[in-house]
Amino acid sequence: MADEDTSGGEQRFTGIAAAPGVVIGKVWVQGRNDVVVSPREIPAEQTDAEVLRLEEALIAARRQLTEIQQKVSQDMGDGNAAVFDAHLLVLDDPSLIEEAVRRIRHERHSAEYAFDTVASQFVKSLAELRDEYLRERAADIRDVAQRVLRCLTERDAEEMKAIGEPCIVLAYDLAPADTACIDKTKVIGFCTDIGSKTSHTAIMARALGIPAVVGLHDASQRVLQGDSVLLDGYGGLLILNPSEQTLDAYGQLEKRRHGIEASFARLRDEPAVTTDGHRIALEANIEMPDDVPDVLANGADGVGLFRTEYLFINRDDLPSEEEQYEAYAEVAQKLAPRPVVIRTMDLGGDKFLSSLQVASEMNPFLGWRAIRFCLERTDVFRTQLRAIARASVAGNVKMMYPMISGVEELRRANAELAAAQAELAAAGIAFDGNMPVGAMIEVPSAAMTADLLAKECRFFSVGTNDLIQYSLAVDRVNERIAHLYQPTHPAIFRLLLQVVEAAHRQGIPVAVCGEMAGDAALVPLLIGLGVDELSASPPLLLSTKRLIRGLSRAAAVEMVARARELTEASEIQALSYALAQAAAPEVMELAGA
Ligand code: PEP
Ligand code: MG
Repeated sequence: MADEDTSGGEQRFTGIAAAPGVVIGKVWVQGRNDVVVSPREIPAEQTDAEVLRLEEALIAARRQLTEIQQKVSQDMGDGNAAVFDAHLLVLDDPSLIEEAVRRIRHERHSAEYAFDTVASQFVKSLAELRDEYLRERAADIRDVAQRVLRCLTERDAEEMKAIGEPCIVLAYDLAPADTACIDKTKVIGFCTDIGSKTSHTAIMARALGIPAVVGLHDASQRVLQGDSVLLDGYGGLLILNPSEQTLDAYGQLEKRRHGIEASFARLRDEPAVTTDGHRIALEANIEMPDDVPDVLANGADGVGLFRTEYLFINRDDLPSEEEQYEAYAEVAQKLAPRPVVIRTMDLGGDKFLSSLQVASEMNPFLGWRAIRFCLERTDVFRTQLRAIARASVAGNVKMMYPMISGVEELRRANAELAAAQAELAAAGIAFDGNMPVGAMIEVPSAAMTADLLAKECRFFSVGTNDLIQYSLAVDRVNERIAHLYQPTHPAIFRLLLQVVEAAHRQGIPVAVCGEMAGDAALVPLLIGLGVDELSASPPLLLSTKRLIRGLSRAAAVEMVARARELTEASEIQALSYALAQAAAPEVMELAGA
């Protein structure tokens, strides 16, 4: 979105609010800090893979540059975007690329070392020339080389380690793996040019409890290292050089918000019960065992979604069965007797493992993801299933599979579980043979066959983040089409209704663990639809509880009956919003609604 100039040099960049809170500080622009490459030799049999890595990095760099060029051209005109033509040309320069490939193949240099040394030589020779045009080309090559190296080394997390004083990170993009290792003592907030509310990076920011804004278009190109900024994670704004007036206004607002939040704290040990006595299980989504204190501090009834894939990322090897067992058992023990729903790993989409060489795909969200990966890499899956089965005796453990598309897949996954349990039984290792196993409902085909699935599992957990993306064909991480991502689209409404009815006919409970569950304006809709459990990021739980405690279930059910007749997302949204507003106006104020 275009930024607007206001008085006194203040500039506002509008994006998408991803995690609540307001912070003021110096900006750290990710990607403006040089990647330093050390020499590394690779084994002869790895040269093909290394050339492929280089090619993929060149493609990724090209994609980034084209996107930035388009944005700059939209916002500032073609003249300003022309500089990127020179950068794109560098990526096509055969002399540079062929020499790098030669060094990989013949001198067995790693892709980053080969590319870095060749690019540096080019830069050096051009920089020494008198011709101004060629000297500029040297600067282009340096810039592009850093971009390629960054794509090759996935150095965002590494780069952030160099941050000294607390600051606000601004990046073109941050992978969930990078967000996962953010040090909260140094990073007080972050914002990105791309991404949307349900990207795993945004989800992670909410879990970390630091303000975040995504989808800021080209802000990372227009803000300088060390600039003073205000990041508004409620309104989705990045304000460069905030004026005294702006700071004053935000100061007042912050006081009011703190007051409201403090009033929720006393609800910690109260149940999430509607005004007409209907109890909702209000649970937490977690990524790591370290999140357990937050679960307890926010009065959760348990964990409704443990995203175990974060145990697998940011490392060079796979976690062993023992290591996984310890992580799962620790969470189960610390939260017992509260239930903990462990989701088997959801690799792919926007989460990748560094320890497994997985070829990049054109459409990763439609590709080799989650249960599809596990049912092929049964070695990796079996290890996890054994670890979860063992942890099932440590507390109240349930397990569920992500991305189930139909009964066949559920049966195959259950067969793997049975085999893992049989191995444990044969070895005399304890496990709970009655551990409830559920299916995530996040693929439209699963929602449409919910009646069949309900007969073969003990619970459903609806992953609305993916269900919406797949049903509406709207990439959940693409800010350009974020306005088309409509949780209250009549199609989603009907699918949810169908899923709840199918589950209840079969006598099994339904949870919602997608971001919809923590969206205050949509909670009345979910409760009216008959959802039994809501699971959301810990920082959202107390406000959600406050809302539920002010809501009449009968009114929500009646609202859903009216919503059946509606034809537009905005109409259904408005009905749910009105109930939320009446139930807890201060929650809606806090949510910035
Ligand atoms: C979902 O898709 O709604 C969900 C909870 O899973 P994830 O966000 O991890 O894909
Ligand atoms: Mg999902």
